[in-house]
Amino acid sequence: MKKIFLFGATGSIGESSLNVIKENPDHFVLSGISFNKNSTRAKDIIGNFHPEHIFTTNEKSYSWLKKENNLSNTISISNNIEELSEFLNSDNVDIIISAISGFAGLETSILSVQTGKKVLLANKESIVAGGDILIPLSKKTGANIVPIDSEHNAILQCIDDYSAIHNITITASGGPFNGISDSDLENISPQDALKHPTWNMGAKISIDSATLVNKCLELIEASYLFNINESKINLVIHPQSIVHSIVTYSDGSSLCQMSNPDMKVPIAHALSDENRLNINFRELDFDNLSLSFSAFPKNRKIIEDLAREVCKIKNGSGIVFNAANEVAVDAFLNSKIKFLEIFDVILRTFDNVQLSKELDIEKIYEIDKASRIMAKKVVESTSN
Ligand code: NDP
Ligand code: MG
Repeated sequence: MKKIFLFGATGSIGESSLNVIKENPDHFVLSGISFNKNSTRAKDIIGNFHPEHIFTTNEKSYSWLKKENNLSNTISISNNIEELSEFLNSDNVDIIISAISGFAGLETSILSVQTGKKVLLANKESIVAGGDILIPLSKKTGANIVPIDSEHNAILQCIDDYSAIHNITITASGGPFNGISDSDLENISPQDALKHPTWNMGAKISIDSATLVNKCLELIEASYLFNINESKINLVIHPQSIVHSIVTYSDGSSLCQMSNPDMKVPIAHALSDENRLNINFRELDFDNLSLSFSAFPKNRKIIEDLAREVCKIKNGSGIVFNAANEVAVDAFLNSKIKFLEIFDVILRTFDNVQLSKELDIEKIYEIDKASRIMAKKVVESTSN
């Protein structure tokens, strides 16, 4: 029986993870969770899964947990890293799932990798911003970082001879505006951008999918996770979200992983050891399956090129890219900037933040802070 700690339990990946755990009661038990604001959902999870430890740094959620009857006797509740770390490093945890959204997940991703345990990584922002310390840290502690971002999990499933990889092709659904020209995107509302055609996800990643910045983050994520040069990573549009990525080998074979779009599939793979798990899944209907692929759109080339630049120069450039995007997405969701202005905020912030060759945790937070200040200035100048 493997004991799981789930960061971001109240989110979309949190829910998919809980479903895989629920469908495999002989293999997994939920020993701990973290959440931020959604105490209603947290209450349900606590009632259904009875975790031993709950972590939140949100003051309101923490005092709600402390007041909640019948909780404190059986469950330990923490709001500080020391107590959390003690629990994560104890025998109560075998596997950690990192599924907080955004840069906010970096601290707990680092803490997870420090344990040297198996870490399922959904929080791509922590690799984009902190890959330069997370990857070396995993080598030092022996932590096994297993991606659950569907594309990266697909790549992992398709790698059978790492040394013979010719290239990798990451697929993108194209989001809700696939094929629509920029002039028609001028007055897109947040509600329109949140409606993803194939995946049901949290707000931030849904906007990233609509702008295709998600694919740029994934390009950087893949270059870190698989230690592969960006020139060997292609991006391609595949609207059906059935083929999750493709690995091509030097002998001409291309291997891909397929499933209907359902995050339970990569999570189930990442949670398994030698043998695959059983989950409830919707089978592909091969009799009626029609798949299409097309080039990554030219009007997103500027942002793709910037992501490729991040892979080449490193030195904290991923922190700037990520922070500028987070600020821009938040500004768009709050109707402060228009959809296409998200790109301006990223590009203009990128040119105006000092990078650093010497990266440590403090430096990462410093660059992130400077990037957010700059991005907010750009937002203000854009919205005026
Ligand atoms: P959601 O917005 O659905 O959930 C985010 C989770 O993180 C919630 O539990 C939320 O808590 C918690 N959270 C948010 N902000 C903070 C904070 N400041 N401190 C602590 N906890 C916080 O996001 P998703 O589940 O969609 O995405 C999670 C991660 O997985 C992201 O990095 C995303 O890019 C990645 N991912 C998601 C996919 C998907 O299909 N959804 C696919 C591939 C990757 P609360 O709700 O209680 O406030
Ligand atoms: Mg993905």
